Amino acid sequence: MITLPSLPYEPQSLEPIISQQTLDFHYGRHHQGYVTTLNSLLQSGALGDTFSSTDDLQAIIQQAASQKNNLPQAQGVFNNAAQVWTHAFYWHSLAPTQSGKAGKNALSADLSDAIARDFGGIESLEKTLHDQGLAQFGSGWVWLACTKDGTLSVHRTPNAELIWLEGDLIPLAILDVWEHAYYLDYQNRRSDHLKQVIAQLLNWDFASKNFQSKTLFTLEAA
Ligand code: MN
Repeated sequence: MITLPSLPYEPQSLEPIISQQTLDFHYGRHHQGYVTTLNSLLQSGALGDTFSSTDDLQAIIQQAASQKNNLPQAQGVFNNAAQVWTHAFYWHSLAPTQSGKAGKNALSADLSDAIARDFGGIESLEKTLHDQGLAQFGSGWVWLACTKDGTLSVHRTPNAELIWLEGDLIPLAILDVWEHAYYLDYQNRRSDHLKQVIAQLLNWDFASKNFQSKTLFTLEAA
């Protein structure tokens, strides 16, 4: 049984960049919906009895990913389980502007140095995140990640796909480019949404801590 991870701030605290209405739908309906559907699939035995009552989300994701090609219902389990994980990671990847965790001042010296080395500076990284978000056709995610040796990279993935299954990439932060993340506030203007979020809400304190630990985010640590 997976429970909905808690939101690390009040639902109105990302305003005016992300409205409380968007947060209420995105967290209360979409994220909750993935949790509800996942539990229903697991309880109906979609991954077998071993996974019918576990609370180990990463084990569910890995098992579903490995079974996707030979077990028809595993794709549904994977989609919903991965979306439970990415949304929890996404909430932590944002922070209210007043929190002191967003904005470039929250960057650690180590991450700042790595950004200068691998992207030529924070402005160039921000542009890369924005451009990759725009380039993603349809629904998906944009990731800032690093390898174990600290090399940074930006990735985009469609739908519920993840970058960390093989274990060589550690996610530092993520941006949701599904329309449900911005449509109520920005309609089709994904670019405007991304520019605002990247400049004002991206939680560089969280990204810096992930860069320091180089460990995969888990719901338990959230
Ligand atoms: Mn979403």
